[in-house]
Amino acid sequence: MALDTPVKPMTDIKVFIPELVYFEPDALEYPMGARILKWAEQQGLPIRMTTSHNRITNLPGEGELEKYRIAKRTLVVGIRKTLEFDQSKPSAEYAIPISTGCMAHCHYCYLQTTLGAKPYVRVYVNIDDIIDRARKYIAEREPEITRFEAACTSDPVGLEHITGSLAHLIEFMADQEHGRLRFVTKFNNVDSLLGLRHNGHTRIRFSVNADYVIRNFEPGTSSFADRIAAAGKVARAGYPLGFIVAPIIWHEGWEEGYAELMRKLKAEVPPEAEPDLTFELIQHRFTKTAKRVIESRYPKTKLEMDEAKRKYKWGRYGQGKYVYPNEQANALREHLTELIFENFPKASIDYFT
Ligand code: SF4
Repeated sequence: MALDTPVKPMTDIKVFIPELVYFEPDALEYPMGARILKWAEQQGLPIRMTTSHNRITNLPGEGELEKYRIAKRTLVVGIRKTLEFDQSKPSAEYAIPISTGCMAHCHYCYLQTTLGAKPYVRVYVNIDDIIDRARKYIAEREPEITRFEAACTSDPVGLEHITGSLAHLIEFMADQEHGRLRFVTKFNNVDSLLGLRHNGHTRIRFSVNADYVIRNFEPGTSSFADRIAAAGKVARAGYPLGFIVAPIIWHEGWEEGYAELMRKLKAEVPPEAEPDLTFELIQHRFTKTAKRVIESRYPKTKLEMDEAKRKYKWGRYGQGKYVYPNEQANALREHLTELIFENFPKASIDYFT
């Protein structure tokens, strides 16, 4: 796909339209930047220039919470300067950086803390530089396969109608014998990806959960039904499919909640996806900092973050996290594992963490 080709408009899918768009001046020299500017103008969005995203200090809004809400709906179009990719264990070797931040409001989201005071959505228009760097990482590890995770710092599917970045990565990776792409999403706007040449080198995963978790903690994302419909579409388009159940949350009725989730998945996943279906399982965890931020941004949240009920797990840089005690974690792992193999005997579970 050419960088200045307009991304196909979505039909019947609700997509993210920012309230405000900032451009770093250099971004306009790239075809993707110029295209996004045109799109923002056509949408009639307020447009501002900024020399650097670090200088955005005057976002509108009264009080912390409103500022936060507006920041999450502010798009910053810039250039990715750091082209060293972070590691992305356990799902891939590297995180491929195409965007940072997300417009959704999942209470438990780790971006709450990692993005700190800068929760706006940033997209990077120098996709060719990013792809060149990925090519080098692949070459360094040959003949090993190198996997790149595109959703480490945002949900790029929710931004694809603006950037088209995933389309570039998918088509690039289609030709890489030793490169693979993967990303996870809670959004359903996958239509523009369906006709791409992917060569089976991109695995698209959908984040799914028990109804209780989606209803209480995932505002601003696509509904479960829409995510599953999108999963069916990508599977029928021949993409390897996966599901990430995250965060797995211990709640009243959790056994039935997760059993119902698996029954619904079974009913919707097309049979052709089953032999190569993967699951990744991640139990809920939080840090002390995350708890403080979440409680200030979502003061009414029902998210249980009681340190006394959790096990402390030491982490890097002295920032430990609270996970479920072994007995609960084992019960969650065993139940989910049984449910998956009952419903999808040919699927594989990549990890439980
Ligand atoms: Fe965070 Fe993903 Fe929710 Fe966005 S969709 S807020 S990235 S958990």
